[in-house]
Amino acid sequence: MEKNQECMYCMEDERRDNLMIEICELGVSTVFLFKEQTYKGRCNVVYRDHVKELFHLTADELSAFMNDVAQVAEAVDKAFGPDKINYGAYGDKLHHLHMHIVPKYDGQADFGSTFQMNPGQAYLADEEYQELIGKIKAHLQ
Ligand SMILES: [Zn+2]
Repeated sequence: MEKNQECMYCMEDERRDNLMIEICELGVSTVFLFKEQTYKGRCNVVYRDHVKELFHLTADELSAFMNDVAQVAEAVDKAFGPDKINYGAYGDKLHHLHMHIVPKYDGQADFGSTFQMNPGQAYLADEEYQELIGKIKAHLQ
């Protein structure tokens, strides 16, 4: 599939890398840890191709993508023990299918409501990011 020259996911450029750190590749996607960590363990599952909507995938592709999403959610759940995982696919201005995996904790930020796209508050040191990534990876096969 053709890459979109304006898309940070297709181009794998610094716009993407300013926001997130690659964790690993899964079946049909790449998993990233968000640098903004208000919601501890927040990840992003990015589909391999520049696809706008879920319904543009074939049934097999959709199933494979949702399997990746579920795997990451389970890994985040096991690693950090949130009270709920939120799933978000927006992309109004960026038509490259990706799913936000946002762990929510009772009594903490925005529990019982929608997560903020970028609270811009919680940034960590490099070794702290690597520690989170290690914990998530430990639960991904
Ligand atoms: Zn793209």
